[in-house]
Amino acid sequence: NLSEKLDKAFHVLKGHGQITEINVAETLKEVRRALLDADVNFKIAKEFTNKVKEKALGQNVLTSLQPGQLMVKLVKDELTELMGGDAEGINLSGTPSIILMSGLQGSGKTTFSGKLANYLKTKKTKKPLLVACDVYRPAAIDQLHVVGDQIGVDVFSDRGNTDPVAIAEAGIAYAKANGHNVVIIDTAGRLAVDEEMMNEIANVHKAIKPQETLFVVDSMTGQDAVNTAKAFNDVLNFDGVILTKLDGDTRGGAAISIKSVVTKPIKFIGTGEKMDAIDVFHPSRMAERILGMGDVVSLVERAQEQFDEEEARKIQKKIAKNKFGFDDFLKQIQQIKKMGSLKDLMGMIPGAGKALKGMDIDDDAFKHVEAIIHSMTPAERETPTLLNASRKKRIASGSGRSVQEVNQLLKQFDQMSKMMKMMQGGGGKKMMQMMGG
Ligand code: GDP
Ligand code: MG
Repeated sequence: NLSEKLDKAFHVLKGHGQITEINVAETLKEVRRALLDADVNFKIAKEFTNKVKEKALGQNVLTSLQPGQLMVKLVKDELTELMGGDAEGINLSGTPSIILMSGLQGSGKTTFSGKLANYLKTKKTKKPLLVACDVYRPAAIDQLHVVGDQIGVDVFSDRGNTDPVAIAEAGIAYAKANGHNVVIIDTAGRLAVDEEMMNEIANVHKAIKPQETLFVVDSMTGQDAVNTAKAFNDVLNFDGVILTKLDGDTRGGAAISIKSVVTKPIKFIGTGEKMDAIDVFHPSRMAERILGMGDVVSLVERAQEQFDEEEARKIQKKIAKNKFGFDDFLKQIQQIKKMGSLKDLMGMIPGAGKALKGMDIDDDAFKHVEAIIHSMTPAERETPTLLNASRKKRIASGSGRSVQEVNQLLKQFDQMSKMMKMMQGGGGKKMMQMMGG
């Protein structure tokens, strides 16, 4: 299972001090990618991973007994929190309780109206009435009747009438007269947000004062869901979100984006076309789904592959014997380049900040450094102390850099070797592993 996989992925690094940060960062990069893949807004995804990072480092993830499990838990908990606490029900306080559906065309309002009526009827022993306020398409009224027949719930419609407010009010009156204690009002949607649709739903909302206004959204809508949710919320100040079409492989990142834009609870999800394909929204289940944890695991694993322990051990030995040369240095650079931005990585090495402060750690600077090292003979690379003034001059002209730059690199190399030697106990060991690929 997932936790075991992550545990395995973290195993190599376990107990190696703060270098763990690199792995935490690597993991969270994958989490962020998973969020973006799931259509979570970029800014929200970034904020999220930053938050998890702080928590992870605070808890010393890798030195814990089961780092993989702890990491998964952290990510999941944070995501769950972001999507809201426990599922909230529908406000059924009125007599009758009036529930208004809103949302774009095709979002699943009519289908969900039926599902909700069925749910309230069977689970809460209510007597619902469905009211057809989509006045633009005769087929829409038929559709609601079909749904009503299917679940054995009455449907109120008025085919000649083109005023949704009047139909809604008549429907409520019908409910009162016929002992219905819940009225679900299905409305018309457009393909995109427009003023006419907004005015219409706002007028219905104002006239009937529903106990519960629900915003229905297709979970496949992706980034657009944020704008649509905001537009409807600005006009209706709705009470809850219904996320439909969560069957199939939709990851439902829309849930996170919507949640962070409108801060309204997600109440139910739709998981199919059938009338019983309705579920109370569970933030923790959604968190698992959005993360598609498998992806995260594979990224952690990929990061892990870049740690070649064997090579790391060799380098350690060389350092111990003062035999660390420019070829090793070059390897490290290549390794670091594989792992991502040098600046990011260097920032994570414990104690390295100070030593590296003067160093130019632009990723571009790599090219120059590599050019210089490539202009050295094998003997020079192995024994940097060979480098006298004339050799330096030759290397400078060979690499197209200045002698000054060659000197600078030598100085950096020297600093680095010293630092690595210094760090060979404790955390330094881990750094060697990181650089040893
Ligand atoms: P409306 O225009 O907002 O009323 O949307 P509809 O209720 O007519 O739904 C539009 C389409 O989406 C229909 O074909 C529904 O069967 C389908 N649909 C609605 N909810 C779901 C769901 O949860 N899963 C799947 N797979 N299809 C759904
Ligand atoms: Mg409809």
